[in-house]
Amino acid sequence: MALDHLHYLLGELLLPGALPWCLQEEETMQHLLAGCSFSRQIWHETLSWVRSPADIPNSDTDFYTWWETACNRSPSSARKGLASLIILTAWWIWKHRNACIFDGEQPSTSRLSGTIRDEACMWAKAGGTGLHTIIPER
Ligand SMILES: [Zn+2]
Repeated sequence: MALDHLHYLLGELLLPGALPWCLQEEETMQHLLAGCSFSRQIWHETLSWVRSPADIPNSDTDFYTWWETACNRSPSSARKGLASLIILTAWWIWKHRNACIFDGEQPSTSRLSGTIRDEACMWAKAGGTGLHTIIPER
């Protein structure tokens, strides 16, 4: 997902209906990615997996701003990998939301964070993402 595209989604999109795991009435991308306790749990697990010192996103900070800050505060060797991991995580939170809404899947933080780790390992093998510099050896 291109950065511009994500930024567009965050700024403009108000999603119909609520998240299947959430009592909030109006769903926004900001809530889905940064405010929701489900997603915050995913960020916590993903960022601790790579031992990132970045804070997890929160509802008070624009997600895009959080992303930039998290990357800028990381050591330069880890920056590209962290940016990739954040894109991948946001993308999979979005996909998980869709699977729960449209395919009747059950929300699961443990399954989703497992998927994100597997995908990150695959992206790392494919190269060019910087992920190999941050993900731990299996
Ligand atoms: Zn929520």
